[in-house]
Amino acid sequence: MRRRLGENSRAVHLPPATVPRQLPIGLPVWRSAAWSFDSSAEYADVLGDRVPGFAYSRIDNPTVAAFASGIASLEGAAAPEDVAGQAFSSGMAAVSAVLMTFLRAGSHVVAPAPVYGGTYSLLSNVLSRFGVSVDFVDYSDLRRVHATVRSSTKIVYAETLSNPTMTVADIRGLYRIARDAGALLVVDSTFATPVVCRPLEHGADLVIHSATKYIGGHDDCTGGAVVGRPDLISQIREVRIDTGGTLSPDEAFLLRRGLETLPLRVRRMCATAMVFAAAVAKHPAVRRVDYPGLADHPGHQLARQLFDSGPEGTRYGACVTVTPHGGYEAGVMLADAVRLARIATSVGGTHTKVAHVASTTHRQLDEAALTASGIDAGAVRFSIGLEDSEDLIADVTEALDALRSNTATRT
Ligand SMILES: *Cc1c(COP(=O)(O)O)cnc(C)c1O
Repeated sequence: MRRRLGENSRAVHLPPATVPRQLPIGLPVWRSAAWSFDSSAEYADVLGDRVPGFAYSRIDNPTVAAFASGIASLEGAAAPEDVAGQAFSSGMAAVSAVLMTFLRAGSHVVAPAPVYGGTYSLLSNVLSRFGVSVDFVDYSDLRRVHATVRSSTKIVYAETLSNPTMTVADIRGLYRIARDAGALLVVDSTFATPVVCRPLEHGADLVIHSATKYIGGHDDCTGGAVVGRPDLISQIREVRIDTGGTLSPDEAFLLRRGLETLPLRVRRMCATAMVFAAAVAKHPAVRRVDYPGLADHPGHQLARQLFDSGPEGTRYGACVTVTPHGGYEAGVMLADAVRLARIATSVGGTHTKVAHVASTTHRQLDEAALTASGIDAGAVRFSIGLEDSEDLIADVTEALDALRSNTATRT
């Protein structure tokens, strides 16, 4: 084309960016929805997955792919070639893509009670409309899980550490049940992260993360991921492409950056949670502390088998649920009385957060359902952050002291 382009054409067709030969240390944010090709044949080959490449960001994006391969590398440390990952716009986008990939009308799912609220609702309110049935089972006795699986069971679903009782999933036992039933073992490992436990090493087929929590780690973005065998992951990718729960490149940048400090942050948070739980358990205003690092927690031995350890000891996760004496009201008072911990939803950020469980995160459960799930009406969940442990302990101790004197004056 010889003619001099008009100003609009020149504005649109600026010289292209140089793609550098040197690898950048910081991850570039490829904020492009579409890519261009040298020929229609190349375009067709990339779209048809015959040639690796990028065509459209809902399908694949290099920044997003860098995050997905990053989380796959951390979860699949034992066998990197056997593990691939897919990134999603949220944890629930990841959960729904996994369920929609492997379930169809007539399929049955076994899931733990309690399971994350969004997953509970998706299974019981949404997928039930498509002919999927689900049984929510107390996983503390695997015989109940065994008795619930049937020939139509396609997924045995678990959570490495469940919220708010910090129940530890017997991943190896669940693996045997799922394998014998011909079902996939899918493990939501959001509360553990690969720094605490890597379920693929214990028999899980797929690991799901809400990257919004520990992986992002700063409460500034939403995302999700699924990691597992490449043949399973490529099936999940097809469903993600069709349902559109794709992560944005900006958030992929933040999540990938989060991965670089994930071990440092999670190890530190676990160590703080351990001393926090031990200190709180001794306070006279406290009725119960749920933390697998405490020897009286039902998941303590299992955690010692499944969870990683370092010089600082076994990592038991960084959420601690504290139940004061005095029921529902005492729980609300405790959550309102702490100063350093902020009243907020979500877990895994740098700030310590507190939530009265029965009135907030588990508000959909009535009293009977709370009891069935082993949750006290006064339970208060602490998501331990990066503050100094001495400050967090002083803060909660002051709040518990106030609670005790308040209860004392009323009785
Ligand atoms: C938060 C959470 C989810 C959902 O993740 P979103 O990023 O909020 O969609 C799923 N599972 C667990 C255990 C969670 O904590």
